[in-house]
Amino acid sequence: MTSKILIINFEEIYLKGKNQRIFIKQLVRNLKRKLNGYQSYLDFSKSHGGSYFIEIVKDIPEKLLNEIISKVKNTPGITGFYVADTTGIDMNDIIAKSLEHAERYKDQFETFAVTGKRINKSVPFSSMDIGVKVGSAIVEKLGKKVDLTRPDFTLHIKVRGKYTIIYSEIIQGIGGLPVGTSGKAVSMLSGGIDSPVATFMAMNRGLHITAAHFHSVPKTSPQSIEKVKILTRKLTDFQGQIKLYLIPVLAIQEAIAQNADSRLRLILLRRIMLKIGEKIAAKEKAKALITGDSLGQVASQTLENMKVTEAATDMLVLRPLVALDKKHIIETARQIGTFDISILPHDDACGLFTPKSPETKAQLKYVLEQCAKLPIETLIDEALQQAEILIVSDVDN
Ligand code: ATP
Ligand code: MG
Repeated sequence: MTSKILIINFEEIYLKGKNQRIFIKQLVRNLKRKLNGYQSYLDFSKSHGGSYFIEIVKDIPEKLLNEIISKVKNTPGITGFYVADTTGIDMNDIIAKSLEHAERYKDQFETFAVTGKRINKSVPFSSMDIGVKVGSAIVEKLGKKVDLTRPDFTLHIKVRGKYTIIYSEIIQGIGGLPVGTSGKAVSMLSGGIDSPVATFMAMNRGLHITAAHFHSVPKTSPQSIEKVKILTRKLTDFQGQIKLYLIPVLAIQEAIAQNADSRLRLILLRRIMLKIGEKIAAKEKAKALITGDSLGQVASQTLENMKVTEAATDMLVLRPLVALDKKHIIETARQIGTFDISILPHDDACGLFTPKSPETKAQLKYVLEQCAKLPIETLIDEALQQAEILIVSDVDN
């Protein structure tokens, strides 16, 4: 016997017309992966109209149910969902369960409405009867008032096959599109505030992300890498599993420092990061690179610099944060839980490398002249050979 059902809504996917099936299939695949640890409690059934049901097939401890709810909440593609109570199709059971459900919310409403629907037509009562009987029980037992036009609380009751589902409060999801439905991308993940938000936004538009982090260990502390692992782990809340490339760039920084105009250090390093990102993308079959650049946020993030930086690659470079102000980015970082990790002190690869007066209006011709002084292909190959690849998962094992 089912004890509860999660009724999942996915409006945006629902609008996708004939692609809808592919989107739902991917969403269910993602959900099954994320909820793998709770498998013995769950039955993934089919979609019903604009919703998808996950049945909880046996009594579940509150703690586990809450974990499941939080995973569903963080799954891109889900706009909202209900945690429905279930019971049999006997009217007395329906009334009792409905009262129990409404009682949990009794401090939050004065007026209410009941919508009753009988999908199983063989029961000896009508849709209307459900509303009337449950409604009067709530009036009588909980002392609440019926208001069919603007109720504080609406109880939905549906009698399906052999059981009835009872639900009220919608839990908001993060919306967006299921991870994987837009293809793959490589996200350049620093330990800062911005790139984790950019990575999340890309995932939430359906991109499956591989993360690339560039570090200067042993010049910077190994903790800077730990921090990125923790950030990546946080981001698995949304994608489930993330491949993380850790690429040493100290040798590259030294080559740049010794050979090139110091005003261009950061641009030259960023260009090489994108070129390495491009190689990783080829391996991972990814079609875009993601960065956390935001226009004008620091003096070096100018149109001129972005242009000469991305000229290093033919790949599409997406910058989800380009037009967002810092306040908005920080708000999102807090919502997704990366902010507190990002603000932990660390020394990052670029910090120690920043020149006193960085170029703000780089010219491509001059940048290319400076690049020509470096054995770029060799440096890239060596960095990639030394790269460490981790699979970061949302489940501990
Ligand atoms: P963030 O907060 O993401 O560090 P930022 O505002 O500090 O960004 P920059 O340091 O100019 O901006 O970096 C711009 C973007 O370049 C970052 O958002 C990130 O995508 C990429 N990037 C910078 N440093 C690294 C790094 N060490 N590893 C991977 N990507 C990096
Ligand atoms: Mg940074």
